[in-house]
Amino acid sequence: MRSIFSLSYDDLFEYIESNNFEKFRAKQIIEWLYKKKVVDFDSMKNLPKNVISKLKTDFVISSLNEIERKKSIDGTTKIIYKTFDNNIIETVVIPNNLNKYTICISTQVGCPIGCSFCATGINGFKRNLNIDEIISQFYLNSKDVSNIVLMGMGEPFLNPDIWEFLNRMTSVDYFNFSSRSITVSTVGIIDGIKKLVSFNKQIKLAVSYHSGVSETRKILFPKIYDIIDFKKLIKALKDFSKTGKRFTLEYILIKDLNDNKKEAEILNNLSREIDFHLNIIPYNSHKFANYKSPDDIDISRFISYLNNVKYTIRKSKGQDISGACGQLAGEKSIIYN
Ligand code: SAH
Ligand code: SF4
Repeated sequence: MRSIFSLSYDDLFEYIESNNFEKFRAKQIIEWLYKKKVVDFDSMKNLPKNVISKLKTDFVISSLNEIERKKSIDGTTKIIYKTFDNNIIETVVIPNNLNKYTICISTQVGCPIGCSFCATGINGFKRNLNIDEIISQFYLNSKDVSNIVLMGMGEPFLNPDIWEFLNRMTSVDYFNFSSRSITVSTVGIIDGIKKLVSFNKQIKLAVSYHSGVSETRKILFPKIYDIIDFKKLIKALKDFSKTGKRFTLEYILIKDLNDNKKEAEILNNLSREIDFHLNIIPYNSHKFANYKSPDDIDISRFISYLNNVKYTIRKSKGQDISGACGQLAGEKSIIYN
């Protein structure tokens, strides 16, 4: 059955009108959903029984069914959902330094980009998630969430529904979530970066850069190496930074591949032209790729080559439950389909 989150306020208004209910019911339903976050239609206390029963016949709140919840020793939780068409997606909830949680949301089933280091991409692509499936991941896990990152399975900028998602998250009439606490992570889809420049909210951008050396980018991004022109990407980032909006460059550090001086010098040069923050993520190993994680000594050597680059080293959480960056494979599909 359809999720009620597939409807915007206008759609819901139309639905209410066409069923000859009083018009103000649409607003009440929106409030129950987006402000009070009720888990079922029966909790919508100020609605008459006939409206509730009509809603129950036509919709579910969420079309995602939780099939498993795994908790890591570091407090990270990975939730595995089955979609209406039996696909498997994963959402990760991570404790953060605000004593709250950051939720990592998936935007696609699989990913068509196929980066050679990423379990999601290696396992292929099925489809975009719908607006209601993206919202549901937040809705079902919103308790104490202070930050949202679109960094789960999939490439957000290939899914047109993320714009409506950003709208619903940040609009006062909907969730009214702080736009500065939402980050979209992209492999470098230039049209998406441009669109975010003109988007009227201060959404944060993270770009999965990983390398400035052509041969290495070819290895890391085998399917899209030709499509994402590196020079155009840098130009788009320059334009983005001109707006005053800041962004991070994500840098998966892989032993013997991109942990060298040449890469560091390219970053040093780049930092003279653009204001960025470098997020160094030591490669998380998984069974789908053969890259090596850097040892502490490789990490210290690489950062010793950096100058003027503002960086942080982010050790991914949730490794023991395969919930860390790049480990989301949607593996359960094999078992549950
Ligand atoms: N498609 C988007 C967002 C999802 S991937 C993107 O690529 O940015 C989220 C992050 O996980 C990206 O920064 C990605 O590069 C990183 N990642 C993928 N595989 C990883 C791995 N094995 N170890 C560490 N980070 C990984
Ligand atoms: Fe897709 Fe991002 Fe994984 Fe690359 S790293 S395959 S873009 S999810």
